[in-house]
Parts: sequence; C-alpha cells; structure tokens
Amino acid sequence: TPRCRFAPSPTGYLHVGSAQSALFNWLFARGSGGEFVLRIEDTDAERNRPELTDNILDMLRWLGIDWDGEIVHQSDRLDRHLAAVEKLEAAGAVYWCDCTRDEIDARNKARKDGRTGYDRHCRDRGLEKAPGSALRFRVPDGKTSWPDKVRGEVTFENINVDDFVVSRSTGAPLFVLANTVDDAETGINHVIRGEDHVNNTAKYLLLWQALGFGEVPTFAHLPLLVNEQRKKLSKRRDPVSVADFKAEGYLPEAMRNYLALLGWGPKDDIEIRPIEEIVAMFRIEDVSSSPAFFDVKKLLHINGEYIRALTREDFIARASEFVPDTPEAKALLEDLAPLVQERIKRLDEVDSYLSFLWVDVPELDEAAWTKAIKDERAHKVLDHVQTLLADADWTPEGVEAAVRGAGEAAGFINPEGQVQLSKAQAPVRIAVTGQRIGLPLWEGITALGRERTLARLAAARE
Ligand code: GLU
Repeated sequence: TPRCRFAPSPTGYLHVGSAQSALFNWLFARGSGGEFVLRIEDTDAERNRPELTDNILDMLRWLGIDWDGEIVHQSDRLDRHLAAVEKLEAAGAVYWCDCTRDEIDARNKARKDGRTGYDRHCRDRGLEKAPGSALRFRVPDGKTSWPDKVRGEVTFENINVDDFVVSRSTGAPLFVLANTVDDAETGINHVIRGEDHVNNTAKYLLLWQALGFGEVPTFAHLPLLVNEQRKKLSKRRDPVSVADFKAEGYLPEAMRNYLALLGWGPKDDIEIRPIEEIVAMFRIEDVSSSPAFFDVKKLLHINGEYIRALTREDFIARASEFVPDTPEAKALLEDLAPLVQERIKRLDEVDSYLSFLWVDVPELDEAAWTKAIKDERAHKVLDHVQTLLADADWTPEGVEAAVRGAGEAAGFINPEGQVQLSKAQAPVRIAVTGQRIGLPLWEGITALGRERTLARLAAARE
C-alpha cells in the first residue's frame, strides 16, 4: 500500500506552504487507499518549541487533515540515526573533516573553477574523530536521478553534490540523515514534499543506497508558493500562518479547498467543491511544477462562497465565536444573521457589522465622517431625521421613510426630482454606526432602537 508522510519541523507556526504539503499527502493517501503518517522532525533542540508542535497539530485538525497511527517523533529515534551513522562509518562511506567554515570559504575564494561547495579537502586525509569535527558523506562518482511525479526525470551529476555532513562529533545527526533513515525504517514509499527539498533528495538517494535500504520511494516535489510579485512567500512580508487565517474567520473547508488548488486543479475547472470530490479527482501526476500564486483575494472569494453556503444554524454557530460572549450579542447575531451572512467574506467581519449594536459608542471612521458632512445638506439631513425618527413607525419601512423625508427636506434631490437616498443615508449611517458600510441601514437602525438611535444622532450634531 502507498504510504506517505508529512514531516514538519516545529520551528515555526504551520504556514500555508507546509499545509499544502500536508494536504497533498493526505489527498494522495485518501484517494489511493494508502496511509498518511505524521512525523514531527524535532531533532533541532535549539529551535524547536513544544507549543509549535501543538500549533501544527491543532491546525491540521482544524483543516480536517487526519493522520493514521501514532505520531512519530524524530527525537525518539536518535539511536536509529546513530546506528545508521555507524553503518556508514563501517562501510567507509563517510570520513571525518576538521575544516572550519572560514577555511572552506577562504579556499573557495582562491578556486579558479567558480565552485562554492565543500572542496573535499579531508576526503583522503584519514582523520580520526576529534572535537569540533564533522562526518562527511563520500559522494561517489556518477549521477543520481529519479523520476519525479511532478517534475519528470530529475538528474544530478554527483560531482555537483557536496560531500555533505551527516553528523557532528557531538553525535548529533543532521537533517538528511535522520529524514532518510526515518522514511526507510517506517515504510514510507512516497515522499511528497516542497520543491525546496529537491537538492536534499539527491543526498537522500545517495544515503539510501549506501545504507542498503532497497527499493527507493517515489518522489513528488510540490511547486513553490509565491506572492503577487512572484517572490517566494516569506514569513515577514506575506500572510502565511494558518492560525492567522483561522483567527480572521476563514472557514477550514474553504482554506482546504483553496490549498488544493495551488498547483492542481480539477479537469472540469469547477474549483469550489466538496473535499470528497477533490479526493476522488486528485492525482499527484497532475500537479504542476510551476510556482503557484498564493492569492489571498481568491481565497477570500472562496471563503465568501463557503460562508453563504452554510446553513443558517451553522453560520450562527461559527460566527458566534467572533462576537462578544454576551446574551445580547448572541441574540442580535441570531436576529440579524441572514443580513450578515449574505454580505461578509470573513467571519471576523461579523463584529464590524454588528458591534454598533452592543457598544456604547461605536468606533468612528473619521475620514468617512469628514467626507460625509462636507456637504451642507448632510447637516440638514441629520437635523430633520431626528425629528422624523422621533415619531416614525419603528420598522425598517418606517425608518426608511424618515431618512427619505429628511433627504428631501435637506434638498438631496436629483434633476429628475427623486430623492438621492444614498447621499441622505451616508451621514445617518456614520452617525449611528460609526462606519461607512455595514448592515442594510433600515434594519440596523430598527435593531438599535429609537432611544439609542436618537442619542447618537444628537451626539453627532454636537
Ligand atoms: N522537516 C522537513 C521540513 O519541514 C520535512 C522535509 C520532508 O518532508 O521530507 O522541511
């Protein structure tokens, strides 16, 4: 059976690139009747933090990416890594090197051939282990290649593969060694991971061979994710943390659907669809090798579609995590849910749509206010509307009639003689809600109540 894995290093919060790797492994496993294993590559004691592992697990669960069997912790397998290092030593596949970084750099500077890697200085010096030294792999002559499911045949001339370090005199094995040994010894036969690991795969295959692990896994290197400027996504520049998207009110199903479209797409071009269908259609061979644009706007659009497709009950349940935990706020959310659900693209917008109903003084969009009251007629609207609302029927229709009447009295009339309702509405909306956009105003004002509406209008005129 196919057996693949997601092997994150807990050195940061789960980011969208890793989530994409996890998802594509999961899609592959679920669609092929295979197994999907989770391995935490936590051997870098200095950079790992336990809460980062928690974040990775939480975010995978949130996305509905479930794994099979027990989680493998790479740090528990140190004895296996050391055994592999011993085996390499016994086979003469590695050698001790005491070069410092500075020495290597200095020699490279003097080189005529423009090469920059390790110059094999210690290869035949027969050094013994010494403090500060490292064990390097003796890369054999020839070439290393593999048929990549995404990139086609990938070939490295071995002369271009550095004699890489497999472990240090301190006994700590390095990434490629631990990664390769763990895959081999846990029966991984499909390695689906980011394109940034292509170079590592050459080393992986050399190690695999030297350790006599037998049939090599099938590889697929997923395309790099890039931003709008076609630059590799960066933690500093771009929004990449899955937890941040969750906090902003993206739905996990929408996020997962969007991640599936990064470098892959269904043949019929229907991009928004249930995950079961994506599982059934997904083929790793169809993944593209060109960089995939991580398009937050498209994600936002998809999220809006998912929000609108929720049942009312489900929408209220999910949105309630984005409003204050008070009976008043929950009740308002329930009443006004239909109007909000139609309009928002992220659940965190619920608060900006409704909070004017439960705060004492809504936050004022100063720029919008200044603009709205530039026109002298806006002041008149605000005066008239107070009088009209004082006696209006307290229904959306009654409120609308009052604002319409105030607009007319203030002279917001177009050449055809009709009231310019949106112009009359703008100062009223900002005075009452603080914001330029939001709920349909008649319903919003009706929900706020007469007393509070009049108080805010009066305060706005002061
Ligand atoms: N720990 C590696 C990383 O996070 C995983 C590499 C792999 O999937 O083999 O980049």
